[in-house]
Amino acid sequence: MSDKLDAILAAAHDHAMTVIAPNVDAWNRAGTWPREASDAAGAAGLTGLYAPEDWGGQGLSLADGIQVYEQLGLGDGAYAFALSMHNICTFAGCGYGTDAFKQRWARDLTSGRKLANFALTEPQSGSDPMTMYTRAQINGDGTWTINGAKAWVSLATEADVYFTVVKTSDAPGHKDMAMIAIPADAPGISFGPLYETPSYNFLPMSEMYLDNVVVSEDNIILPIGQGFQGSLMAIDIARVSIASGCCGLMQSALDTALSYSKNRKMFGGKNIELDGIQWMLGEVATDLEASKLLYRKAAEALGTPEGPLMAAHAKRFVPDAAVKAANTCTQVLGGMGLLQPYGMDRLSRLAQMLRIVDGTTEISRVVIGRAQQKRAANLPDISVPKGFGETDDEAAPLVAE
Ligand SMILES: Cc1cc2nc3c(=O)[nH]c(=O)nc-3n(C[C@H](O)[C@H](O)[C@H](O)COP(=O)(O)OP(=O)(O)OC[C@H]3O[C@@H](n4cnc5c(N)ncnc54)[C@H](O)[C@@H]3O)c2cc1C
Repeated sequence: MSDKLDAILAAAHDHAMTVIAPNVDAWNRAGTWPREASDAAGAAGLTGLYAPEDWGGQGLSLADGIQVYEQLGLGDGAYAFALSMHNICTFAGCGYGTDAFKQRWARDLTSGRKLANFALTEPQSGSDPMTMYTRAQINGDGTWTINGAKAWVSLATEADVYFTVVKTSDAPGHKDMAMIAIPADAPGISFGPLYETPSYNFLPMSEMYLDNVVVSEDNIILPIGQGFQGSLMAIDIARVSIASGCCGLMQSALDTALSYSKNRKMFGGKNIELDGIQWMLGEVATDLEASKLLYRKAAEALGTPEGPLMAAHAKRFVPDAAVKAANTCTQVLGGMGLLQPYGMDRLSRLAQMLRIVDGTTEISRVVIGRAQQKRAANLPDISVPKGFGETDDEAAPLVAE
């Protein structure tokens, strides 16, 4: 591991332990994004992980930088998620944005002075982004006019710029999609009421409405034709980042269970001495080790042809393991696991949220299933014995009549 990565991971660990963990319950009660905390994350180098050093970023590879969320996830998975989205937008802006965009935004984004988020989902379409109604009309004067509505926009009202995926025609399909950065102060942008989410209420989320919003073409991040593929790449990075954050969440659940269980007296000994409890804790520990190996391998694969499938494997397996870990560790605490100060309920809800965001577990299964279908096509045939469906008559009964 490089000295630089060591230092960033140590800074992220310190941020989780001293800034996030002690304050997250208060943030949730206040229901507002902790801007001082994200400013501190910026000062610690956590808001420009993959952006080039020339623009004030850390210049880390995706494989290295993604490990930061494992550390941040020790403090809170939703906070880790929000910073991961900011980092992905910053990576895209610094990598693919126009020179004018970089001059205007790059240093503010890498330093965390300004925050960014990604707006793809719409009220009628989450898993099915092809059904997109947000339209950009290309004007002759170097501007685009955008109309539409986005949903589930994280950091809504708090981010300074929204990397928004739009269609540029009514033609079906994704070939006309583009991504354009819309500044929060652009006339015509507005937000709906904030969603209420008891376990991560500090993360503002709402619908975002675009009513004749005019943006300079300087703000095009992914031109027409690249919007969909580029968004898929961003989502793959997000999926692996979520898996990384889930590992921090699992470690946090496990450590709480261990700390409690070694002190809880029962049957003349301690809870942790019971075989049944050790099996439960051991299973969580194995799932955690497997999850770390999987997300790190997936992070290495990003940008290669295996990237999308490996990201799907990580997003399918790790949040499920995190839900199981949070619930199992709650069980280890018995009734105490249900009480607010132990934080286990928050971890269970967060893990469930991480199963949904940036492509649900089911969508990951679809990606993995299609890859298996492709692999099957290249494998030798194994003939199906007569009577087991090998017949020209598709309507043949399953059993003899
Ligand atoms: C906390 C949070 C933050 C978010 N932040 C953002 C953000 O910043 N920007 C953004 O653009 N979006 C964001 N999202 C949206 C998120 O990506 C979507 O919620 C997600 O893609 C699922 O879409 P949906 O909620 O519309 O569910 P739907 O697409 O309506 O799915 C409903 C159910 O159907 C299942 N399903 C769908 N297709 C299939 C299939 N082919 N086979 C089997 N089952 C299927 C799903 O798995 C799910 O269980 C956020 C969501 C959450 C929860």
